[in-house]
Amino acid sequence: MIYLKSEHEIQLMRNSAQLVSLTHAEIAKRIRPGVKTAELDQVAEDFIKKHDGRPAFKGYGPRNNRFPATLCMSVNEQVVHGFPGEYELKEGDIVSIDCGIEKEGFFGDSAYTYVVGECDEQTYDLLKTTVESLYKGIDQAVHGNKVGDISHAVQTHCEAQGYGVVRDLVGHGLGRALHEDPSVPNFGKAGRGKRLREGMTLAIEPMINMGTWKVKTLKDGWTIVTADGSKSAHYEHDVVVREGKAEILTTFEYIEEITKIQIDPFPNYG
Ligand code: MG
Ligand code: MG
Repeated sequence: MIYLKSEHEIQLMRNSAQLVSLTHAEIAKRIRPGVKTAELDQVAEDFIKKHDGRPAFKGYGPRNNRFPATLCMSVNEQVVHGFPGEYELKEGDIVSIDCGIEKEGFFGDSAYTYVVGECDEQTYDLLKTTVESLYKGIDQAVHGNKVGDISHAVQTHCEAQGYGVVRDLVGHGLGRALHEDPSVPNFGKAGRGKRLREGMTLAIEPMINMGTWKVKTLKDGWTIVTADGSKSAHYEHDVVVREGKAEILTTFEYIEEITKIQIDPFPNYG
């Protein structure tokens, strides 16, 4: 069941997206070698609560194995759903941070792969390609297109650079629930899948590996890592399907004002 949102509901989603984007900025200020991932998680939790939000990931999942933290923090070969903990970030690491919040009944969900200090050129290229594919996907999120148009745009861009497009995890609708229909895979055929309609709200989130697209799950039941140990990147925006051009609800601007790394400043999206 796909829920189309009213403009009033979209305004509430804008607020949630704003809080999730500002939470990322609080993290961006503190990313440096030596910081523990658990410290960043605490900063995010405090910030979200202070702004009348609720961390959406904490306690999510099956009753016998709930996700334990506010942020998913996935370092290097970890793709998604890594646990914050005692690990100290070090120079040259990349860390994919996914943040979900709920505020006034609506969810915001956004991910960004941060560089700790500086990384090698190959890794920058992975990050740049992943961001580019996100915006290429968003370009397809317009009324009248199909979900497969988004999937195809992401996949072809990343595979042309030789990168692996993760199949096991996908983007999704969101709104009053963190995960709504439809699923938005990052691979697929153009012109296939559900038709996109004005007022649909989607989280588009390419997860792209330096090597194989194959992944495995660690014993904790959550952490997904690349099967070959290669690095992985993850960027996620919440968007509204519109006529002609998608509206992006989340923003990376606050992050990039702090990091000064414009991974890829697409002119269309500033
Ligand atoms: Mg997310
Ligand atoms: Mg998501």
